[in-house]
Amino acid sequence: MIPAELSEQVYNCIKCGLCSNTCPVYAQLRFEGVSPRGKVQLIKKILEGKLAISENFARLLGTCLLCETCMVNCPSGVGLDRLMKAMRAEVVAKYSLPWQKRALHLLLSGPHLLPFAVFWGRMLEAPLRSLLPKDGKAGTIPCSRLPRLNSMPLLSQYPEIIPPVGPRVGRVLYFVGCATNYLSENVGHSVISVLGKLGVEVIIPKRQMCCGFPICLAGARKPALKNIMRNLEVFGAADADAVVVDCATCGAALKKEYATVLEEMGQNALAARELARKVLDISQYLSGFDLEKYLRPVPTRVTYHDPCHLLRTQGVKDEPRSLLKRIPDMELVEMAGADICCGGGGAFQMEHPDVASGITKNKIQAIMETHADVVATGCPGCRLQIHGNLEDDHIQVMHPVEILAMAMA
Ligand code: SF4
Ligand code: SF4
Repeated sequence: MIPAELSEQVYNCIKCGLCSNTCPVYAQLRFEGVSPRGKVQLIKKILEGKLAISENFARLLGTCLLCETCMVNCPSGVGLDRLMKAMRAEVVAKYSLPWQKRALHLLLSGPHLLPFAVFWGRMLEAPLRSLLPKDGKAGTIPCSRLPRLNSMPLLSQYPEIIPPVGPRVGRVLYFVGCATNYLSENVGHSVISVLGKLGVEVIIPKRQMCCGFPICLAGARKPALKNIMRNLEVFGAADADAVVVDCATCGAALKKEYATVLEEMGQNALAARELARKVLDISQYLSGFDLEKYLRPVPTRVTYHDPCHLLRTQGVKDEPRSLLKRIPDMELVEMAGADICCGGGGAFQMEHPDVASGITKNKIQAIMETHADVVATGCPGCRLQIHGNLEDDHIQVMHPVEILAMAMA
């Protein structure tokens, strides 16, 4: 059931098409049914009972990156992102999800299943990789460019409380997220090392779970409730200056999605609202420190890509850039369309590789035109999509905090 306050928003649409003009998917397909304006009109007809949810509607609704570009460009303030996410839940209620997605969601929502599966994945990684077709692709990404699993989950590499290097000036809870925990351990090492050098005690609650955002975005809200409730319990109670997050998507979940999903499901969202106030992207938290005395020159040329979930969902634009600009001898050069989605969109690039590759091609071209040595971005999905599609191995794709850790080494 979509709440009335949300469903009434379809009547605010004046069909101006400003949302469609900026939609990266519409730019590729040029078909009204996939445009945000077209989707709002279809949703309106369904809500009025003039059209039934069909498989074709489900396909059109799924042809969307949930990048929120349409939402920020709508002059009438139509909450397109919320409407589309709520409608996905209606679609799932009618048709359920394919077994592969249900299996993935089962893994992500089980506190013990995911570590167990990753353990065996790590054991069998080499033989499994050798079975992959040489020229095979996972969506748009060549198999040879897929990331390797961490040697151990990051959560197993540290104690729960990590004291700072010198006198303590702060204390944070660190929400690690699945990507850092299982795939990008260097991001986690960088977060811990930078905070420790600045005098911040880092607490990594061992009972934290996947944020649940990938499950919610697929429309399966009920299975995600387990993740939401556990994380609210673990991160809501502790006494700390902030809950820091290094992943744009996890940050979007904790800051915004938890409260919205609970409210739309008719549940109490007070704890989620309180947690949202404490959550900061790592770039926001670090912006408050006097970093200059710790930074050594890093003579390199960097360009920055805005993750959708950081820029539009959380409104974080300047902080990562200003951190990079503070590093001596580092040149930050803006790419054209830094705020345009990279085409990854979670499972989108797997499900719509032809559309995604057109969007990613534009991003790669914009990066190449900057002649940068490094692409910085605070989202593991964007890093995967950009690294996976970059043909130039000399260009590194890093989290801004990894660059900062290098400058503080
Ligand atoms: S920009 Fe807003 S008002 Fe204009 S067509 Fe899109 S949803 Fe409707
Ligand atoms: S969220 Fe992004 S991809 Fe989806 S309709 Fe809006 S602009 Fe297009």
